[in-house]
Amino acid sequence: MPSTTAEPIKINILGGGIAGLTTALALTKYTPSRLPPPHITIYELRGAPATIGGAVNLTPNALRLLDHLGALQQIRARNYGKECLAMEVFDLYSGAKLAESSFRGPDGKGLGKPPYTALRITRGEALKGVLATIEQHDNIKLICGKKTVEITEDERGVEISFMDGEKASCDILIGCDGIHSVTRLKHVEPERKSTYSGICNAFGFAKRRRTDTGSGLEETHFETTGMNFGRRGALLTSFHNEDRDSVYVGALMQVPEIASGDGWKAAGKDAENIRKDMLERFNGAALGVIPHLIEDAEDVFLWPVFTLSRGGKWATNRVMLIGDSAHAMPPQGESTGIVFEDGVLFARCLGRWMEKGSGAPVKEAFDKYESLRRERIDVAFDESQTVVRTVHDSGWLGHKIRMNIIPWYLWWTRPYREKHFIEDVTTSELNY
Ligand SMILES: Cc1cc2nc3c(=O)[nH]c(=O)nc-3n(C[C@H](O)[C@H](O)[C@H](O)COP(=O)(O)OP(=O)(O)OC[C@H]3O[C@@H](n4cnc5c(N)ncnc54)[C@H](O)[C@@H]3O)c2cc1C
Repeated sequence: MPSTTAEPIKINILGGGIAGLTTALALTKYTPSRLPPPHITIYELRGAPATIGGAVNLTPNALRLLDHLGALQQIRARNYGKECLAMEVFDLYSGAKLAESSFRGPDGKGLGKPPYTALRITRGEALKGVLATIEQHDNIKLICGKKTVEITEDERGVEISFMDGEKASCDILIGCDGIHSVTRLKHVEPERKSTYSGICNAFGFAKRRRTDTGSGLEETHFETTGMNFGRRGALLTSFHNEDRDSVYVGALMQVPEIASGDGWKAAGKDAENIRKDMLERFNGAALGVIPHLIEDAEDVFLWPVFTLSRGGKWATNRVMLIGDSAHAMPPQGESTGIVFEDGVLFARCLGRWMEKGSGAPVKEAFDKYESLRRERIDVAFDESQTVVRTVHDSGWLGHKIRMNIIPWYLWWTRPYREKHFIEDVTTSELNY
């Protein structure tokens, strides 16, 4: 495998989602400048990268990495998303603001050096910004509509066989193919299957109602993003564009049984049943805008949250799992940033391995990455379990107790959260 020669290293990536695309950018960035850029081919299963989905929060660490990879400039140039200075937490029944998780930092400009706040953006717009950046790199090719049927590897390289009979070989394969990863299930660890977490995310986008007073749009109780806790789930309400004329409405809720592992866009009667269920669950809201947003939500999706077990195997000698394929977990507020960190840290380890050119197998770089990454992922996984518990159905007493605990929990975990928002994996010590 070339690590010191003039021949570029050949890297294939399965999956053109957020992990696959940002990992390709990071690998390009961290290949030592004395070597030719890597030849990267991304194979995506769908006919085109899917730009559907809800609105995600890009935390300060996520924005820092997107900036570093050149994608934040593309997002800003298109005016995508809405700056989020804090996620505010409300009790649905009293309307009281209980606490907030802030991204303002010590002087209101954000966290870290240079400071970043957060950006609430649709998954689709985030992906479009990254895709526009990919287009600027000649060494990265994106091929869509490729279904993998087999993966084999030996000491010379990795070969992927596709359904259409084509084959693709490479020095290294990176599986960025999401929770139901074929790279994992056909090659790295077939026994590690996803399981349903017991919670679903039902979401849609609602246009703000017009009124005759003030700004002409119905007032909201949240500045940018509000998390409204009820007895039967948590409802996220958030602006996601500069005009603040549309609100992302997403309910995290306990649903014991679910038929499908993939999210789907509900139509007709299904969409109306989901909306009815949401209205019932979040009934009794002191905040008048809440039922309006649920009633007005369009393009309703139901996203059953699947999860992998903690730990698991991430790599073979030449194949590495990055993002959800390695560690899908229920949402804990930082998932997208974690995926960007994976890609950048992995690319730095691989770049260092190329720089050293010691002739050691590439697994050395894989092992280094894992040793740096496992702890962070394990902690995030434990946090995600806390989130699952807070959206489980509860009685009135349980709700009251929860409403008292949440502010303490946010206060207690604030230093830990801010540490991660500030942490910069582009400069962190590799000891390699
Ligand atoms: C269509 C879609 C909508 C989503 N919507 C939401 C949402 O609303 N809220 C939320 O919290 N999370 C959502 N997610 C999940 C969220 O994007 C991921 O948890 C997170 O971004 C991790 O990114 P990832 O790239 O590791 O995985 P994903 O974002 O899941 O990306 C994996 C990519 O790999 C592709 N792929 C899958 N199998 C193969 C294969 N065999 N060969 C090649 N490519 C393959 C997929 O089509 C996808 O493009 C969504 C994922 C998808 C695919």
